[in-house]
Amino acid sequence: MARYRDAVCRLCRREGLKLYLKGERCYKPACAIDKRGNQPPGEHGRDARRGKLVGYGEQLREKQKVKRIYGILEGQFRAYFEKAARQKGVTGENLLILLERRLDNVVYKLGYATSHAQARQLVSHGHITVNGKKVNVPSFQVRAGDLVSVKEATTKNPIVQSAFQTAGGRGRPAWLEISDADKMVGKVLSLPRREDMDKDIREQLIVELYSK
Ligand code: SF4
Repeated sequence: MARYRDAVCRLCRREGLKLYLKGERCYKPACAIDKRGNQPPGEHGRDARRGKLVGYGEQLREKQKVKRIYGILEGQFRAYFEKAARQKGVTGENLLILLERRLDNVVYKLGYATSHAQARQLVSHGHITVNGKKVNVPSFQVRAGDLVSVKEATTKNPIVQSAFQTAGGRGRPAWLEISDADKMVGKVLSLPRREDMDKDIREQLIVELYSK
């Protein structure tokens, strides 16, 4: 039986927007959202009406969307929310900042990988260092000033090299920079601010959901 290859693309179609889960393909015309539009997945997707969600449904979809973007399971996501609620400032923004500071997200945003899933694998397989020391915990929280690098032997990996070259063309967020492209050394210039993050996320809906 043919293997269904579009599984993660269904998640984008379910949310009605690009979640960038499939690496390079997300930036090519082969992207399922670009090809088919944001119709819901399934046999009757074309005919299904994407009714406007309100209240609980809208809040739930927003939470699912953010979990899928960062590849976080429910329990861990809830723990991030509770930590964000205990911090000073706006809970929704705190939540997004905690998610952005994850090492796997930083590896993806620096362009060492083409997707969060690939970035998580690079970290957990020990290919990433922070300030010269191997860190294999994807949820590790980076701080301003940290140097996040690919291990020297891994910089020669063609998959990592290809990801790095194409990421350069897409640009990087203002809070991160590549300080040595030949050695694949990146720097966390500052902690991310809300304006550095995805403008389509409505984090207040997640706060409302968890505050019930
Ligand atoms: Fe698939 Fe990536 Fe397009 Fe999402 S953004 S539909 S994961 S190719």
